[in-house]
Amino acid sequence: MNAGRDDARPAYIGLGSNLDDPCGQIARAFDLLDTIPRTRLVARSSLYRSAPFGPVEQPDFVNAVAKTLTSLDAPTLLQHLQEIERSQGRKASVRWGPRVLDLDLLVLGDEVIGEPRLAVPHPGIAERNFVLLPLREIAPDLVVPGLGRIVDIAVSESEPRISRIV
Ligand code: ATP
Ligand code: CA
Ligand code: CA
Repeated sequence: MNAGRDDARPAYIGLGSNLDDPCGQIARAFDLLDTIPRTRLVARSSLYRSAPFGPVEQPDFVNAVAKTLTSLDAPTLLQHLQEIERSQGRKASVRWGPRVLDLDLLVLGDEVIGEPRLAVPHPGIAERNFVLLPLREIAPDLVVPGLGRIVDIAVSESEPRISRIV
């Protein structure tokens, strides 16, 4: 009911995959983001290859960030992201484990939500080069609520290697 707002806001989505043709998964997910109601895709970053994060032994990830403009509220947008994950065959899996597709809502306008089921801005932004670098690429002027300007957030020196693919 209250899913829509009249004013469109920028929503930045983090994409990740390390199973079943990750580059193809990310390309398809970009296209599907544009099919979400009241939402259009306005920018897609390059693809980045990054070493896995966390304790699980698994293949490298391909990561990217999308910019959309949406008039959906945050919970409704998250539902659509999870539906796209499922439509590309994501099974329930351990946190930070291998997956065909992970879509995280990184930033939604100036909104701040602090619930475990929906935290916005996404709490991992400042520590993850695979989020910071593509986000800077497509949104160098972005100000992240609570964190400040994206260009002022330091790239982590301790994090595993990351390289731009295309
Ligand atoms: P991380 O969130 O640290 O990147 P993850 O992506 O591996 O970890 P998932 O297993 O994909 O974690 O999701 C776990 C839960 O995180 C989801 O069920 C969702 O409710 C919750 N969640 C909280 N904030 C967000 C957000 N901003 N975007 C996506 N999911 C979120
Ligand atoms: Ca994630
Ligand atoms: Ca996720």
